Amino acid sequence: MAQFAVIEQAKKSLKTVQEYIKVGMETTLDVAQDFADSKIESEKEIDILKSVMKDYVQMERDLDDFMNSVEDVTKQAAQSQETVDLEEAVEGRLQVYKSKSQKVPLENHEKYVDLAEKITEILHPDRQVDSVPQTPAYTGDEEMVLTQTDVNTRCPYTGKDMVHPVKNRHCEHNYDREGILHYIKTKKNRAKCPVSGCMNENPIQKEDLIENKELKRYIDRKLRSEKRTKKSS
Ligand SMILES: [Zn+2]
Repeated sequence: MAQFAVIEQAKKSLKTVQEYIKVGMETTLDVAQDFADSKIESEKEIDILKSVMKDYVQMERDLDDFMNSVEDVTKQAAQSQETVDLEEAVEGRLQVYKSKSQKVPLENHEKYVDLAEKITEILHPDRQVDSVPQTPAYTGDEEMVLTQTDVNTRCPYTGKDMVHPVKNRHCEHNYDREGILHYIKTKKNRAKCPVSGCMNENPIQKEDLIENKELKRYIDRKLRSEKRTKKSS
């Protein structure tokens, strides 16, 4: 059984590596954001960012495949009466996982997609103007006059700044994910859009909520620039 203890320890260490990879991916995105903010559009630098991100995706994938293989084999070994050659068994599972994951392009990874979006932002900064969310959608609402400079980042339900903005498919109002899910729960699925004057009479369903990536980026950007001003002052 000592063997399993060693494996558990190894898994813990690998989880740490996984965390580092995630941090690396976020850092790469941050650098891309810095490029976008400071309007750096050097193709060479952009290519480096792309290849760094691909490396991270590949590393994450290799690690996932390996950890899944180990997981499978330890489960198997725990149930089996015979002694299993763990190394050989892991190697076998690894080939199966690898041949599967190889079929998915690295560019499909969520973080790579995020990077590609940021790169589009770098190369076509003007496109940002219409990508900034329009809040809110209905006439007769005072907030209609909001311009790009004061996009509403406050959740109409919690009254706090949104962290994970989600958009209601029906009325296009945005809410913070945690807050609105709580609201839906407390209202037992009869939660109407909390924006005053909203014409949407349908109770909000979880399925109506779409992650608002543009607004999320906007919020992140805002936070980053606030952080920067704090740092420099
Ligand atoms: Zn609404």
